[in-house]
Amino acid sequence: MLSPSRPVPDAPGSFRDVTDTATETISTDERLSELRSWLENNWDPDLTVAQWWERMGLAGWSAPGLPTNAYGKAMARSDTVLVQQEIAKFGAMGAPAGLGLLLAAPTIATHGSQEQIDLYVREIVTGRKAWCQLFSEPQAGSDLAGLQTRAIKDGDEWIVNGQKVWTSGGQYADLGMLLARTDPDVPKHQGISYFAFEMLQDGVDVRPLKEMTGHALFNEVFITDARVADSALIGGLNNGWAAANTTLANERAGLGSGGGNAAGGGLAQPGTVMGMLDKRVGDLVGPKPAAGGKQRSQNPLGALGAMRGGAGMLISLAQSRGRNKDAGVRQDLARLHTLGEIGRFNGLRVKAVKEKGGDIPGMPNISKLSMSQIVRLTRDLGLRILGPAGMLHAYDAEGKAELQQSTRDPFAGGVTEMALFAQAPPIYGGTDQVQRNIIGERVLGLPKEPSNDRTTPFSQLPKNA
Ligand SMILES: Cc1cc2nc3c(=O)[nH]c(=O)nc-3n(C[C@H](O)[C@H](O)[C@H](O)COP(=O)(O)OP(=O)(O)OC[C@H]3O[C@@H](n4cnc5c(N)ncnc54)[C@H](O)[C@@H]3O)c2cc1C
Repeated sequence: MLSPSRPVPDAPGSFRDVTDTATETISTDERLSELRSWLENNWDPDLTVAQWWERMGLAGWSAPGLPTNAYGKAMARSDTVLVQQEIAKFGAMGAPAGLGLLLAAPTIATHGSQEQIDLYVREIVTGRKAWCQLFSEPQAGSDLAGLQTRAIKDGDEWIVNGQKVWTSGGQYADLGMLLARTDPDVPKHQGISYFAFEMLQDGVDVRPLKEMTGHALFNEVFITDARVADSALIGGLNNGWAAANTTLANERAGLGSGGGNAAGGGLAQPGTVMGMLDKRVGDLVGPKPAAGGKQRSQNPLGALGAMRGGAGMLISLAQSRGRNKDAGVRQDLARLHTLGEIGRFNGLRVKAVKEKGGDIPGMPNISKLSMSQIVRLTRDLGLRILGPAGMLHAYDAEGKAELQQSTRDPFAGGVTEMALFAQAPPIYGGTDQVQRNIIGERVLGLPKEPSNDRTTPFSQLPKNA
């Protein structure tokens, strides 16, 4: 068990959980009742998506976990999930979900100037701009600090050259969280800067990569002599590693808690590229869901949402296929439910500890590991319940209708979708092995792997390519 009071080292590259900055004294029930009356007074299906998100974002309900100076309400992460559920229950459109809300906004709120918050975070919470994460490179994934994309100063701008990969939502993004090397002559963690980078410019070539699910969630991004203003530097020159750690901590905590989707889970996608901002918001939300019901998701990562939704869907599937009497299936359903409950209790535990000014180091990593476990169990159990039909998958609407007809099961397509996607969550946001390394080295204080990475200038380190 990790001790809540154990201090976390603050060395370059060390892990610090900055995700939950809850300082509020208002109770959760009071907040939710405030939200309900705000929705009564403000929800209007005749608004455009842009108008609705403007109202919601500026009132603090798009990102209630952010601090109050960054368009938030300083609510605990576990409570922000309740806010999302309450909005869905009311039948209104949810926040402009995506990597902007999940990652860029909390990073800029932590490391950016107030001017940057008022520009970038405002555009995120109001859905005006969509973001992607330009971190990973062909030779720098787990070893992120080994990245080779270069930014060279040119007056009050930087010229950027390099290649990124696995860029989720890059094809729909207005801006990217760009990590680039700004000083190769210092050790690798110390020469990286973090930029708010315009994607829609000459010199940025986004090429989608198709996955086995049939979706093209992520992309390769080739950057050739592209430009970024010095004023878009977040957190100061060569201080990008600290800002990157904030992004990663939010990614792990968000993915683990169900507090956000990697590429958005809303009914409309934010940003200028998807073209949804001018649509009537009432045309995009369905009828008010029944009590306990969920909003539908048009997102390629909807499968992940369903996997995190608990054992409910698989219990229905087991019942409909007469597998609910199988002792092995029942045992795994109980395991799945238990893992979900442990995640929920951990969220409450973090909230309680933080309210007393403490912290539980490593909890985002533990949450992410637990999410990987849930995803794998959901995949294996779903396919086991489905039987041979689990070998069939549909790639378009027509195929999905045929699959449903031939299997006579509305869940079959969803199960195979989840099963094919299940390989991804244990990799993105840092692989399971990397999460365990972080817990071992930075939380439990185990010795690090021997390396001269932290003392040798990056330019003198051997490179793979
Ligand atoms: C669906 C999906 C979406 C993604 N979206 C984005 C995105 O939007 N933006 C972005 O920047 N990146 C994104 N990524 C990239 C993701 O962050 C990387 O894939 C991940 O960090 C692993 O890096 P890699 O693929 O280069 O694997 P590698 O780092 O090459 O790792 C290969 C294997 O070696 C293991 N390994 C590596 N180093 C160690 C070590 N020190 N100790 C033990 N084991 C180790 C790893 O666990 C892994 O099993 C996405 C990935 C996926 C799958």
